[in-house]
Amino acid sequence: MSSWFEKIENPKLKNTKRSKGSSLTGVWKKCTNCKEILSTEKLIKNNHVCPNCGYHYRISWKDRVDLLFDKNSIEILSSNFSSLDPLKFKDKVAYTEKLKTYEERTGEKDSVIRLSAKIDDQLVSVAVMNFSFMGGSMGTVCGEEISRAFEYSLEKNIPCIVISASGGARMQEGILSLMQMAKTLSVRKKLREKKIPYISILTDPTTGGVAASFAMLGDVNITEPNSLIGFAGPRVIEQSMRQKLPEGFQKSEFLKERGFVDQVIHRHELKEKVSFFIKFLKND
Ligand SMILES: [Zn+2]
Repeated sequence: MSSWFEKIENPKLKNTKRSKGSSLTGVWKKCTNCKEILSTEKLIKNNHVCPNCGYHYRISWKDRVDLLFDKNSIEILSSNFSSLDPLKFKDKVAYTEKLKTYEERTGEKDSVIRLSAKIDDQLVSVAVMNFSFMGGSMGTVCGEEISRAFEYSLEKNIPCIVISASGGARMQEGILSLMQMAKTLSVRKKLREKKIPYISILTDPTTGGVAASFAMLGDVNITEPNSLIGFAGPRVIEQSMRQKLPEGFQKSEFLKERGFVDQVIHRHELKEKVSFFIKFLKND
């Protein structure tokens, strides 16, 4: 599938500093949930969880990586692929222009960053999705990087962790983006055959083709409180069904009750629990 994108050397990306990626500005912030006035500094120190009500704010992929993995163990393995715009797609702006804008804005080439890292000294292959890059949409580059994260696991015989955050398939790549569902799953299946653990962490929001493929097929599927996880958005479903949806529909706790996810874990306990699951599955 390499003919749908090209490899571009981007020294800026190779040397990406994993600085804190917080988008919070100002000294004070009113909590979206409990309306309490919070110190921004305290909120950042608390891993972007409201100290008053426990509301989990979205965090950048860089913060996510810092939160989960051992310091100085992270090595970026992303391939620097960029989509070649196989459909020559254009709406208000050409797809190529859009890609360029997001690249400048985020410093990344696409919506997935691939790396190797250690979690409590256990080496793992990781793919983390960047929601800031076109809503974490899944095109050919995303599919390739996720597949490569699985392949790296197979090659090194180490567990794989995929951290999803996505609005779904990238419409600018049409059917090719939908094909990434089958492509990623064909590699994921090989991990199962070799009994290599795969942990999926679904963060807020994980929807569309990503939720309908590799994100839901971990040996353990984990999410944080109050995350939106589903296929179509609640508003679309409500409009097409002409029915009011139940409270908490498509939120983590609702999904756990119905068996769609295995664990809803507070951000402060995420590293410890993920590390436990890896140890547990490796020993099995
Ligand atoms: Zn709050």
